[in-house]
Amino acid sequence: MEKTRSEIGDKSIIEETIASISENEKISIPGYVIFLVLYIAATVVVELCAGYRGNIVISGRSIPAVAFTGVFSALANVFIIFMVVFCRKLGFYTAITALLVQIFLIIISIVKTQELISLPGLFTDIFTMIAIILLHKKNERLRNYQQRIMDQAVTDMLTGLPNRFACSELIDNLIKRDERFAVVLIDLNNFKSVNDTLGFDAGNKVLTEIASRWKDIADSGLSGTLDFINRLAGDEFSLIIRNYSNSDDILHTINQYEEALGRLLTVDGCDLYVSASIGYAEYPDDAKNFDRLFSYSDAAMSEMKRLGSGNHILHFTPDLLKPERTLEIERKLRTALDNDNIFFCLQPQYDINHKLRGFEALARLKDEKSQILRPDEFIPVAERVGMIDKVDGAVLKKAAIFFGELIRKTSSDIILSVNVSVKHLMKNGFLDELRDVLDVSGIPADQLELEITESVMIDSAEKALHCIEEIKEMGVKIAIDDFGIGYSSLSYLNRLPADLLKIDKSFIDKMNTSDSSKQYVAAIISIGHIMGFEVISEGVEENEQLDSLNDIGCDFIQGFVWGHPIEANEAESLVLSYC
Ligand code: C2E
Ligand code: MG
Ligand code: MG
Repeated sequence: MEKTRSEIGDKSIIEETIASISENEKISIPGYVIFLVLYIAATVVVELCAGYRGNIVISGRSIPAVAFTGVFSALANVFIIFMVVFCRKLGFYTAITALLVQIFLIIISIVKTQELISLPGLFTDIFTMIAIILLHKKNERLRNYQQRIMDQAVTDMLTGLPNRFACSELIDNLIKRDERFAVVLIDLNNFKSVNDTLGFDAGNKVLTEIASRWKDIADSGLSGTLDFINRLAGDEFSLIIRNYSNSDDILHTINQYEEALGRLLTVDGCDLYVSASIGYAEYPDDAKNFDRLFSYSDAAMSEMKRLGSGNHILHFTPDLLKPERTLEIERKLRTALDNDNIFFCLQPQYDINHKLRGFEALARLKDEKSQILRPDEFIPVAERVGMIDKVDGAVLKKAAIFFGELIRKTSSDIILSVNVSVKHLMKNGFLDELRDVLDVSGIPADQLELEITESVMIDSAEKALHCIEEIKEMGVKIAIDDFGIGYSSLSYLNRLPADLLKIDKSFIDKMNTSDSSKQYVAAIISIGHIMGFEVISEGVEENEQLDSLNDIGCDFIQGFVWGHPIEANEAESLVLSYC
């Protein structure tokens, strides 16, 4: 049966768990009782021998009984010393009490009988008492020292959270007890950028603040489950969840940690919003041993990382383990490129008064069975295997040619926005490719916009900035995609020759339920305007979000509320309906 919070009392869950892991030396009550009984027995024998005036015959020799008092009183003291050594505080206090009682009784007997025969016994007891006090003090000092080393072995020095060792000890214990639990791996997104842009000290402060928010949740019991949060390494944490009934409880708990993580964090005067990729696996349903639990939750977490923004939490499923899955996508990608089966959809963008601003081209892949794959699946694979320039290039070229014809036909001044991977952007031939696209399609440079993802860009800021400046010189617009989930500092924004900030969908999702998200969106819009950028909100799905965005001065809207990604011919009809 699980321990409840009231059983644990005031002690925090984390401290309680660490204590149970690190405290390997427990007082043995049976041992204590045995020493106590032996001590009492030896003392009784001493008293009996002292009071018996006759002799005891051993091997035909008769020895006065009183001669045995010394032997048994020495034995009684030995038992008392054992008690101090093996039974720690309990043994020490029992021994002191016993000796004080003895000393008191001896003094009374001396005073009563006016005989000094018990004086050596009195001195023996006093010296024994001094010896056990010294022994106890030394023992305690040694134990405190051991405890400190134990604590350090299970604690992460930077954040004060339990470390990887503590986590593995806990999991081992839970598995031995066959108790149900979930292992949740949490990996902060783009944390490297914090260290790179703000420095290691700031990075450490970010980790410490996050750890303290999470420790508060774990200790408060607000999540409703028994939680054990610890830092594994760098920006990787793990959360062990116990005492839950179903997967909704697990998600409910993880959401609370994610919500605490997502709150505004101010470090050295810089405002940051941190997000994480989260994966989890359950004992015993998903895996039955430590290594598997970790590698399965890691597989789920890595999948979330690969998919990027949007959902952040994934439960492990066996198909995540299949390397064939990635290989299959890679194969489909190569076939699609060979057969010219990469194509594009167009999602409309509007100004706040519902006037068409233009379209974002979104890549699609048609496989051999004519099934359509979404970019979330194949773009990360294309990046990994070095085919992203071909995919981007195909979408850019095809969308531009279509769009060139469309604006010539309609004399429209709308904009075509195309996603470009930073890997592609920084290839030597990219600027030539772009010039070529402008030539072939006939699109005026200021009606073409390139979207670059903020977080990826910060990782390679210097090289990317140089490239972007050249693109700007050609007259092509730059949009910063998924803005807000990275760690943009104001000075970095100031250097960025962008035209448009695209606020990430995750903030729009939360803006009508979380005040801080709404304020954050409002702040991005104001700062963007001050710096001369226009601002578009992505993933707008509800009218209430539209109203709020209107109130806080957002320039443009992209989202299902006003339009899903559509085929090229539908986009043409849409533009014609505006002419
Ligand atoms: P993105 O550039 O941020 O594109 C927006 C994504 O959000 C699109 O998903 C779009 O369909 C989706 N979206 C737009 N409005 C809503 C909404 O109201 N609700 C919801 N739930 N979703 C909405 P899609 O097409 O799956 O694209 C995903 C990502 O793949 C893109 O995110 C972009 O980062 C990448 N991508 C797409 N095409 C290309 C490409 O040609 N090249 C490169 N490098 N990346 C691309
Ligand atoms: Mg985009
Ligand atoms: Mg986006």
